[in-house]
Amino acid sequence: MYGRTRSRRKPDGGVRTEPLPQQDWQVLIPDAHEGYITWAQYEANLQRLRENAWAYGADRHRGPPREGPALLQGLVLCGRCGARMTVHYYVRSDGTKVPTYRCLTHRVFHGRPPCQSIHSKAVDEAIGNLLVEVLTPLDLEVALAVGDEIERRSEELDRLRRQHVERARYEAELAERRYRQVDPNHRLVADALEADWNDALRRLTEAREVYERERKADLEGTDEAQKQEILALATDFPRLWRDPRTPQREKKRLARLIIENVTLIKGGAIEAHIRFKGGATRSLALPLPRSAADLRRADPAVRERIDRMLDDYAEDEIAERLNQEGLRTGAGLPFTLERVREFRCRHGIKSRYQRLRDRGLWTVAELAAHLGITPSAVLNRHARGTLSGYRCDGRGQLLFERPKNDEASTQTSRRRKRKQSIRVQSTSGGAV
Ligand SMILES: [Zn+2]
Repeated sequence: MYGRTRSRRKPDGGVRTEPLPQQDWQVLIPDAHEGYITWAQYEANLQRLRENAWAYGADRHRGPPREGPALLQGLVLCGRCGARMTVHYYVRSDGTKVPTYRCLTHRVFHGRPPCQSIHSKAVDEAIGNLLVEVLTPLDLEVALAVGDEIERRSEELDRLRRQHVERARYEAELAERRYRQVDPNHRLVADALEADWNDALRRLTEAREVYERERKADLEGTDEAQKQEILALATDFPRLWRDPRTPQREKKRLARLIIENVTLIKGGAIEAHIRFKGGATRSLALPLPRSAADLRRADPAVRERIDRMLDDYAEDEIAERLNQEGLRTGAGLPFTLERVREFRCRHGIKSRYQRLRDRGLWTVAELAAHLGITPSAVLNRHARGTLSGYRCDGRGQLLFERPKNDEASTQTSRRRKRKQSIRVQSTSGGAV
């Protein structure tokens, strides 16, 4: 096949021949010979093969649905460069997976940072709501659009079956030509070719019958089942969509039945242009979700509050009080001991332990050594309420006020006082 390959001389003197892509062929005459399928069909087949290949092809704008939380996986186009956006996950410190739609064209092909990267959560929610809204008043229209998709699918089947008929017809015509071209003097050959021709005609008739039969069955069978599905979809959609038991995989399937694609552009807000199967379009503008940095940059009032409260309260008590006031973390979560601690560390707020130590408070060991008793004796006294300490964290670590004068001497003086009072009592008793 001249012109469909390129030869190169290798360094060792040998020749390497490599095939060229079709657009680089020197000669290409479509439809020069009759084929089983038309040139257009051949090209369509190639296109289908390319689409089915699961890879990061630049020419792929739709991908098959896969497991994963991102609703629009495989349906999102980048509004900046037109490429398909893929789903990426990053895992937060608490283990939750955060899906994002990302356009990596710039990175893959030019080594630059991603074109754009958009959190999927807000987009998915907005589009879910839009589907619920759209499917109620416009259910008929959308159902029709879904019908188009089904029709397209059965058209594809139809095309495949028709190919069998076309092939049988081609063979019949070929057999006829062979028969007509034979010299009539060669009776035996002519008879054999005539028999071939008859066979081919019989096969053609059979192929046509099969085609008609299957086509009819296809139209009746699938139509009924799928009509039911469309009806169920149109009437039941909001319930189905909002039912927490509906698996994400099913939602993705539903979304793909209705949505052709979604173009996302991130600017001052996120613009989402939704194209439905029937060709109808809708546009949404969504506020930008707060970035991770924004989330960490929590309310300065909360920061100040925690800073002040640490003078008087342990972190678990602070969490409780902030929750009672209805305050939430930057990520909108209720406060816990851990979250208060994390918040404090991240904002460089001085710990309660350090504050109390700065105020001169003693640890259990220090106080025990000072009083000449064991640390557990100190804790026992604290438990009985005879020694008051300060809790400095959620684990119950305690710090104690330094004894006023000298605790040991106050104890002896107290003992002395007690003796005195006894003496006073007795003397007073004696006086009475
Ligand atoms: Zn892009």
